[in-house]
Amino acid sequence: MARIEEERETKEKRKGLVCPRVDELLKRRSKRSEEYIARSNGSPRYEVSSPNHNFIVNIEKKSCACGLWQLGGVPCVHAVCVYRALNKDPRKFVHEALLKTTFLEVYNHTLEPLNGPTMWTKAHILIFFHRISGCFRGDQKDVEE
Ligand SMILES: [Zn+2]
Repeated sequence: MARIEEERETKEKRKGLVCPRVDELLKRRSKRSEEYIARSNGSPRYEVSSPNHNFIVNIEKKSCACGLWQLGGVPCVHAVCVYRALNKDPRKFVHEALLKTTFLEVYNHTLEPLNGPTMWTKAHILIFFHRISGCFRGDQKDVEE
């Protein structure tokens, strides 16, 4: 209960669209994307090339030939290169599971306060199990009815 409250407070204080790890990852990829050139033929598919490699990025399907974007939900260096060419923020194209709003939604639900174990009612699951299965007949004397 305390951990969930702590996580929610921490996430609420953070600024930005995505969590800090994703933000840092995108900054590194943005720097590396300067080594690539993105070319378009007018479709959502782009050819992103460096002197040694070519990758096809489809911004409509949020996919790249390298497969990193599909696997991790964060635009890869090739996709970041395309968004840089389009003058768009790649943070807006991160999978929704990695957005701050999703984290806040997950930690929005609270656990109800709970009394200590001395206040708990005894469960009769073992008795039910004994009657159904006929197993552990020797242990029945340990179970309260
Ligand atoms: Zn890629």
